Amino acid sequence: MKKIASVIVDVPVLQIDRPFDFLIPDDLCDHLEKGMRVIVPFGNRQVQGFVVNIKEETEVVELKEIIEPMDIEPVLNPELLELGEYIANETLCLKISAYQVMLPPALKAKYDKFLTLDDEKRMDQFPSELKKLFNQKKKVNWKDAEEVVSTSYLYRQARLGLFHVSYEIKDRGNKKKSIYFTPSLNKQDFLKKFEQLKITAPKQKQVINYYLENFGPSTVKQVESFVSNPRPTLNQLEKKGLLKKEEYEEYRDPYKHREFKQTMPLPLTEEQEKVIKPILNSMDQVSHQVFLLHGVTGSGKTEVYLQSIDRVIKKGKEAIVLVPEISLTPQMVERFKGRFGNNVAVLHSGLSLGEKYDEWRKIQRKEVQVVVGARSAIFAPFENIGIIIIDEEHETSYKQEDSPRYHAREVAIWRGKTHRCPVILGSATPSLETYARAQKGVYQLLTMAKRMNQSHLPVVEIVDMREELKAGNRSMFSTQLVEKMKDRIEKSEQIVLMLNRRGYSSFIMCRDCGYVMKCPNCDISLTYHKVTNQVKCHYCGFEARTPNVCPECGSNHIRFFGTGTQKVEEELGKILPEARVIRMDVDTTSRKGSHEKLLTAFQEQRADILLGTQMIAKGLDFPNITLVGVLSADSSLHLPDFRSSEKTFQLLTQVSGRAGRHKLPGEVFVQTYTPEHYSVQFAKQHDYLQFYRYEMIVRKRGQYPPFHYLALIHVSHENLQYTYSVAEKISSFLRNQLSNGTIVLGPAASPIIKIKNRYRYQCLVKYKVEPNLIPTFKKIIEHFHEEQLKKNLTISIDLNPYSMM
Ligand code: ADP
Ligand code: ZN
Ligand code: ZN
Repeated sequence: MKKIASVIVDVPVLQIDRPFDFLIPDDLCDHLEKGMRVIVPFGNRQVQGFVVNIKEETEVVELKEIIEPMDIEPVLNPELLELGEYIANETLCLKISAYQVMLPPALKAKYDKFLTLDDEKRMDQFPSELKKLFNQKKKVNWKDAEEVVSTSYLYRQARLGLFHVSYEIKDRGNKKKSIYFTPSLNKQDFLKKFEQLKITAPKQKQVINYYLENFGPSTVKQVESFVSNPRPTLNQLEKKGLLKKEEYEEYRDPYKHREFKQTMPLPLTEEQEKVIKPILNSMDQVSHQVFLLHGVTGSGKTEVYLQSIDRVIKKGKEAIVLVPEISLTPQMVERFKGRFGNNVAVLHSGLSLGEKYDEWRKIQRKEVQVVVGARSAIFAPFENIGIIIIDEEHETSYKQEDSPRYHAREVAIWRGKTHRCPVILGSATPSLETYARAQKGVYQLLTMAKRMNQSHLPVVEIVDMREELKAGNRSMFSTQLVEKMKDRIEKSEQIVLMLNRRGYSSFIMCRDCGYVMKCPNCDISLTYHKVTNQVKCHYCGFEARTPNVCPECGSNHIRFFGTGTQKVEEELGKILPEARVIRMDVDTTSRKGSHEKLLTAFQEQRADILLGTQMIAKGLDFPNITLVGVLSADSSLHLPDFRSSEKTFQLLTQVSGRAGRHKLPGEVFVQTYTPEHYSVQFAKQHDYLQFYRYEMIVRKRGQYPPFHYLALIHVSHENLQYTYSVAEKISSFLRNQLSNGTIVLGPAASPIIKIKNRYRYQCLVKYKVEPNLIPTFKKIIEHFHEEQLKKNLTISIDLNPYSMM
């Protein structure tokens, strides 16, 4: 019986986004499975593809044969294959991109395939040609092996377990390598040899002593902090056979050489008991339920996660934990590794391609039951999931910004349904969408209102910067904040200073009265365009001239707003020259591992002040922080984004949560030109619920989520006129096709109107129920398909957008 495989091929074109049938060659019939990747002939090329079905009949008359399989085992299990279709439908992406996004990037990179021996003794069973090929080696290139035996023979043997297939990535990029000096003997022999050699040179002795204390690989730099200019000495010891030189990639798992202290489950508090019960119940009953765990910062949510996972492990099931990339600091990882040890895989962007692949393999081979990772860890190839946890569920980084534009929360809920397990969304400041669903009873709300250790939420003071200006203080630090900082430095307590800045912040603000120009139609801040000296709304297209005096108070202190961390650092040096400052922003953390290093230095109290952008707002749990200063609440408040109030409230709450988490009480100072704004006021009172109620009214009035759904269409091209005319065509087509209740805004210039010499225009659709939406979008994509290819036009559609830029 002939067998046929249906394959989704890697040709990213809409018309080809469907399975194509291929004949499975006889010798592969037994081992080709759904979810494997294959190479197939397509047109006059060879392309990769995913086998999505195996069947015995087809309508296709002239079948071509599969050229070769790429995998020994499926890389996508049946659940993930189905999930791919869901993602393709929901986010309007191609199936091939949905499948690819679920796999570790190493599988997309160029690699060499090898046969690696598992057990040399069993080599007797190999045909003699293959034995010859291995000839003392443990590893043979797959291509070489294919020259001597048939491909199907190799697959058969691999599946019998005589050897396995390993991948080595060809394109490793230009990764930096460092030289390490490592003891070439074990500690005992090292000491013995040292004595035998009768080393007397004091410097050599010093280095030996260093190694006895730090037995393991060290860079010259590391040794240098104990012994001055050690390089020649290290080289001498290498010649004597005590040390050896090794080259390591600098880009490696920051946790590899760390030992994690084992922690035991803590006796739960009353509040924790109350919230964990329904979670465990849902697990025991094998029923799917979504919980919103709304707990103030420091209320012990993580312990609830840990103990829920513990139950999952005991049941022999698996757990997925998502945390924002930026919180994947050693502190967070330590808590999971500390409790579950080697049973945890960690997936984050600090790993090399190869390391990510290794962690993924641990999951695929069922060597671990827990994965902690950023967004894409939601695709962990577990087959028996018992719980999915999303910490800081409000974080917008859970939404992928490029195609496929999926949201990890939606994927989590889909998988939770499939596995009939609970999904926990945890946050101190849930997104409005999530809290609204909890209010409606779609999610079950669990609340933890108290902090651990009887510690209180810190006192938040609002500083009116308009008053500071009136009093003649032109600096970016208020008098109060400076006094408090001096006080803390004297007491050897620590300070966190946050400069609230999202790379892009060009709005116009009056420094005397705090007035910010807003769109009369959309209630969002107008964006300043320097070239034309205009302010524009990028939702609806409204424009106006930039005023010279404040329309509100007549002051001429109305201007463009924004500053950088470097400038703050300079000014800090002038007013507090004695302070030791660690600056954390994109510049100082772009190198892998530097983020962790800076935090460790701060934790070890090698600095008084941690100055940074919003990346410092999350996850820090340091007992000695007693003062938090927010330099300008305004920048995020006036982003041209309907979520700007929500983002500001979240940010202020998060960063306040860093102060006074333990014994010492904390204080927070928030500087702003708009102290009366409700985001600022409710953050001061730590009152999420009031904020929620107020913001819901604003959203309802503006017809924004969670009352309306949004879809954002971006058009970009090198030519301004052409970009605009395409956006114009799209918006009139949308108005034509969609029902009356649906609102189509635009075309309008995007807030960042030009990126890399391409102009950007957008249309925004607001809808409640719109059966015509997806079909209309598909028509648009199809209509512009040729132009996209030929004229290098880009049209992207984002359903439920999080970035409005
Ligand atoms: P959250 O995740 O809600 O911000 P954490 O889980 O970080 O809160 O908890 C705050 C602190 O309280 C941590 O230092 C944690 O170890 C401690 N903690 C949590 N649960 C308990 C408990 N049941 N008993 C004692 N300490 C606890
Ligand atoms: Zn004014
Ligand atoms: Zn507008």
